[in-house]
Amino acid sequence: MHTIVQQGNPTLRERAEAVPIGEIRSDHIQGVIRAMQETLRNEPEGAALAAPQIGVSLRIFVIAERVFGPDSDHPESSKDPHLVFINPRIVRRSKRRKLLDEGCLSVRGRYGTIHRHTHATVEAYDEHGKKFVRGAGGLLAQAFQHECDHLDGTLFVDKATEVWEVERRENERSSR
Ligand code: ZN
Repeated sequence: MHTIVQQGNPTLRERAEAVPIGEIRSDHIQGVIRAMQETLRNEPEGAALAAPQIGVSLRIFVIAERVFGPDSDHPESSKDPHLVFINPRIVRRSKRRKLLDEGCLSVRGRYGTIHRHTHATVEAYDEHGKKFVRGAGGLLAQAFQHECDHLDGTLFVDKATEVWEVERRENERSSR
């Protein structure tokens, strides 16, 4: 189990390093992925987590399985859910953007509104070292953009049009 680092931690502000493709299957990288998944599983409000959020400056993010659950707005993805994104790159974005509510596990207690593209397509490697392309809308598209920002040292509060404090007990929205 790892602690999720909070805003103010320098790792969150670094441009994370690419993972050498030949090392994806190494014990080290597999261990980082497992630690991220375990950490995210312990966050009932978490939808996704980027490696810098556990203090590891590598270009990896993971999506919570619950994002692909029965209430998901992406039932088509549940047949083949990609949960691990290594060296992700957003290769397409919708022209249309929407003002959405957003939070972050590394910015606890604060939420905001932010403009996000309604659809995004990511090219990445999975945990086996296989390249794939995944397009998404809704929560998943928002998560792609939020997590890729993390890998470039950007937090949602940098781009938010409005930020507000939320008391923990009222805080039922999902965080990434
Ligand atoms: Zn975040």
